[in-house]
Amino acid sequence: MPTPHPTPSDLSLQTRLVHAGKAPAFDGGTAVNPPLVRASTVLFDSVAQQREMRARRGDERLFTYGARGTPTTFALEDAVSELEGAYRTRLFPTGLAAVGMTLLAYLKPGDHVLMSESVYEPTRHLVHSFLAPYGIGCTFFAADGSGVQERITPATRMVYAECPGSLVYEMCDLPRLADIAHRHGALLAADNTWGSGCQYRPLALGADISVMAATKYLSGHSDVMMGSVATTRAAWKPLAERSDAFGMTVSPDDAWLVLRGMRTLSARLAMHERNALQVAHWLASRPEVATVFCPALPAHPGHALWKRDCRGTNGLVSFELQPGIDAAAPERLVDSLSLFGIGASWGGYESLVTLADMRKARSVTDWTGRGQVVRLHIGLEEPADLLADLDRGFAALAAAA
Ligand SMILES: *Cc1c(COP(=O)(O)O)cnc(C)c1O
Repeated sequence: MPTPHPTPSDLSLQTRLVHAGKAPAFDGGTAVNPPLVRASTVLFDSVAQQREMRARRGDERLFTYGARGTPTTFALEDAVSELEGAYRTRLFPTGLAAVGMTLLAYLKPGDHVLMSESVYEPTRHLVHSFLAPYGIGCTFFAADGSGVQERITPATRMVYAECPGSLVYEMCDLPRLADIAHRHGALLAADNTWGSGCQYRPLALGADISVMAATKYLSGHSDVMMGSVATTRAAWKPLAERSDAFGMTVSPDDAWLVLRGMRTLSARLAMHERNALQVAHWLASRPEVATVFCPALPAHPGHALWKRDCRGTNGLVSFELQPGIDAAAPERLVDSLSLFGIGASWGGYESLVTLADMRKARSVTDWTGRGQVVRLHIGLEEPADLLADLDRGFAALAAAA
C-alpha cells in the first residue's frame, strides 16, 4: 500500500500556505477572454510525462517552461497567425527585437541580404551594428522595389522589404519581389507594421516571413511593447529554433494586453483611416504644403499598388513643406500644435507629430533640395478639432516668415 497523501490537518500552517488555493473549487461558466497564465516552472504529472513533453517540444507547441511560452502567449500567437494568414507566429519583446531575430534566424556569416531603403531607422542601424560585424553583406534597394534583380548576388539569402515604407509610404510590388527572391533561392521577409494584417498581408502576396511591431496598432493604446514574426510552414523552423535557443519570450501580461487590443483592431483602423483621409485632403489644399504622403491619395506614386494590394490605409499621413521656408519654421509649426503629442512610435488612439529627416532615412533615392517632412499620426479625435489645431500651426508658420 502506498503511503496516503497527508491531509491538510496533518500539515503545518506554513506548508498549507504554500499549497492552498492552487486549484480553487467553483462551478460556473467561462470568461469571454482566455485566462492570464504567468509561469516560469511548469509541473508535470510524472517523470515520464516530463520526458515525453521535452522530446516533443521542438516541433510541437507545448506548455513546458515559461520561456517556451504560456497559454496566454500561445493565444496571442494564434490571433496573430489568423491576422497574418500564417502557419505560426513567434512573439518578441519589441518590434525591433522581432526584426533582429528575423535577420539572426535566417542569415549566417557569408550570406547577403537585400534591404529596402525605406526600412524603419533602427532596422537600418542593424546593418552596421550587427550584420556587418558578423560578416553578413547588405545592399539597399530603392523603396519602390526597382533594381532588386540587378542587386541579387549568389550569396543573397533574403530580400527584406518594408511596404509601405517608413515615413513617406512608398509601395513596392511584393509579388514581384517574392518571385525574384524565390527564383534565386532567397526568402522574402516584410515588415508589416504599417498594414498590421488588416490593411496589408505580405504572406498572401508571396512573402515567407512577416514582421510586425505589435507595439503599434495591435496594442493600440501606447502602453505596451511587442513584436511578432509570422511565417509560412516552409519558413517556420529556423525562426522557432533560434528563438528557443536565445530564450526569446514575452510577458504574459503584455501578451494579454495586446490580445485585448486586437479585438478592436479593425474598428480602430477604420476610424484612423477615415480621420486621416480628411486630414490628408485638407493638407493637399494648403499652399504651404508641397507634397502629401498617403498611399490612398491618387497622386501618391504607389497608389496603383496600394489599390491592388491594400484593403485600406491607416492613421499615418506625412507632408513635405514647401522648400525654401526658414529652417526654424517646421519646429515652430510642431511646437504650436496642442492636440498632437510630439513623439515617436504611433498606432495608439491619439494623434502624434514628429519631424522626419528624409536625407538620412534614404540611401538610394535622392532627397536633396526637398522640403522638411512632417509625419502625423491621426488618432481617434474629432477631425475638425485636429484641422483647427493644424490651421493654428500653419498660422504660426506664416506669422514668423
Ligand atoms: C515601430 C516600428 C518597429 C519597431 O517596433 P518597436 O516595438 O518600437 O521596437 C519596427 N518596424 C516599423 C516599421 C516600425 O514602425
